[in-house]
Amino acid sequence: DAPLLRVSSLVKHFPIRHGVLQRQIAAVRAVDGIDFEVAPGQTLGIVGESGCGKSTTARLIMRLDEPTAGRIEFDGHDITHLSRGAIRPLRRELQMVFQDPYSSLNPRHTVGAIVGAPFRLQKVKTENGVKRAVQDLLELCGLNPEHYNRYPHEFSGGQRQRIGVARALALRPKMIVADEPVSALDVSIQAQIVNLLDDLQEELGLTYVIIAHDLAVVRHVSDRVAVMYLGKIVEVGGRDSLYGSPMHPYTVALMSAVPVPEPGGRDRAKRILLSGDVPSPVNPPPACRFHTRCWKAQEICRREEPPLRELRPGHMVACHFPEHAPDEAQVPGTAAA
Ligand code: SF4
Ligand code: MG
Repeated sequence: DAPLLRVSSLVKHFPIRHGVLQRQIAAVRAVDGIDFEVAPGQTLGIVGESGCGKSTTARLIMRLDEPTAGRIEFDGHDITHLSRGAIRPLRRELQMVFQDPYSSLNPRHTVGAIVGAPFRLQKVKTENGVKRAVQDLLELCGLNPEHYNRYPHEFSGGQRQRIGVARALALRPKMIVADEPVSALDVSIQAQIVNLLDDLQEELGLTYVIIAHDLAVVRHVSDRVAVMYLGKIVEVGGRDSLYGSPMHPYTVALMSAVPVPEPGGRDRAKRILLSGDVPSPVNPPPACRFHTRCWKAQEICRREEPPLRELRPGHMVACHFPEHAPDEAQVPGTAAA
């Protein structure tokens, strides 16, 4: 199958002024050359700490930000530099679910107005048709269709996120990009929304990009997972391969911080604490950006940027000394040393 979304060499630099007189111009290298594809009907999860560029990636895919370089193809169309007007027809097919179900819904509008807005904008239905369509969507998303005339404050956080999902589904999109869709919700509610997204995917054949810092959420929903660090994808692979035996030291460290219930009550792997903070994306470390925090770093890591290499089928990693990898995957001449 051709991918529904293909991102190639995508870059987003935000210019900033700094220095005492604010005269020097520098760039926040939020996204610094990333590549990935998402097949139709599949979910790509993107994980990483805050500031790694995952939200910027979502905004670039949605064309809410203009890419600095690279290419974004959606459903066979190059959408990298489409103008606002030219992108409108694609808006039907590519929708977003936001993190905060409190601020992303207009408090002065009824649910009917909010979920029906996409129909009204695109002038695709009569008023009666809009009402019926909205009620169907509310039902599809587990809400009471009779609550059509209520306001966002009359709903719980989880229900509000269901309203956000209903709004995103109004025009029957092919793809939904969800940026931290459950992180603002109570833990007890998160699973309900995750399961709703899962059910809707099955029922409607949706393709998802789901961005989250929570590894457990991403594991639950994703077919493939990309791990970002300082504007780069450091590892990407099938969910089971990546969670079962992560190869990048950063992924290993992230996962070691997640409690995993092990069959037989065996002690889980030792927690790896990363030293130091995430360096500034204005001045990322040269070569391997993770070398300032990596317990495996060697001289070559500070000198040569490791390319993203496919070391297991469909599973790529950018590291000179990957974990759980075939021996020949080590850098020649250093592995034996
Ligand atoms: Fe660590 Fe070197 Fe691999 Fe970077 S390339 S993650 S510094 S071992
Ligand atoms: Mg799924």
